[in-house]
Amino acid sequence: MHFEHIIGNDNVKSLLTHTIRTNNILHSYMFIGLDGIGKSLFAKDFANMILCTSTDFTNKPCGLCEACTLYASSNHPDFMLIEPEDGKSIKIEQIRYLQEKIAEKPITSSKKVYVINDSDTMTKEAQNCLLKTLEEPPEYAVIILVLSNESQMLPTIKSRCTKIVFHALKQDELNAYFSLHYGNTLDDNILKVCNGSIKKAIETQDDMELYTQMNTILHSLEQNDMIDVWNNSDSLYQAKDKIQSVLEYISIVLMNQLLYSQDMRYANCIQIIEQTKKRLTSNANFDMCIDNLLLKMWEEFHEKYSWH
Ligand SMILES: [Zn+2]
Repeated sequence: MHFEHIIGNDNVKSLLTHTIRTNNILHSYMFIGLDGIGKSLFAKDFANMILCTSTDFTNKPCGLCEACTLYASSNHPDFMLIEPEDGKSIKIEQIRYLQEKIAEKPITSSKKVYVINDSDTMTKEAQNCLLKTLEEPPEYAVIILVLSNESQMLPTIKSRCTKIVFHALKQDELNAYFSLHYGNTLDDNILKVCNGSIKKAIETQDDMELYTQMNTILHSLEQNDMIDVWNNSDSLYQAKDKIQSVLEYISIVLMNQLLYSQDMRYANCIQIIEQTKKRLTSNANFDMCIDNLLLKMWEEFHEKYSWH
């Protein structure tokens, strides 16, 4: 079975498998879709299938040939993975290196595969440089660009690649994964926060305690004095690196309460959260944003006359 350890996007599995079976591999692909839904896993498996030297086209990767063995040990000479070196962007030097290597004929397999993860972080110079290779690729070369933000790509690059679109995972697919690996399914609110991303689902699984604490903070906002709220909100202040997901979760919980109670104070709180999310993305002081968020939400529940 191909792509057997990857969940979701069955149509992409069929398409890529068909490509291999009919030996109709193109020079350049663009794997597009949300972060954390398995695009780079697909690219790696697809690369393995392309590089496999078995003559049985219905059973690639065979896992037995020299190419498969080398690939499994991350030593295949005809494969290259390119990622942002500093975690931020892919530079022109990296693309120049790719071009230097791609000019050399394959050693083990009949093709050479280049996977460029987070291609949308390529600088403009890097993209222009890559364009030359996409325009006249060596006949044995396959380049797979993996990205989530298509608008960052030059139109000239896009027009040279075959687009493969990946979809967010469905809730039942995420739950199936969690039943298999963790022996449980996910809470409905958490599923909404994940927005179809398996990566996010795994992260939130590790942070269940944090999300539970958010419920406690919300309860405290409605019931207690502001001093108590501040005293009990450490976990929110400490969640700086995942604050957008945490705020999204609070917003979803509030939305459920709004739907249940029709109490507009919940709607106002959701607005306060949205404002906070925006402020945080524009690099406002984190602690001050959270202070302000808690205070404003508390006022919604406790002030008789609110300006909202
Ligand atoms: Zn093989």
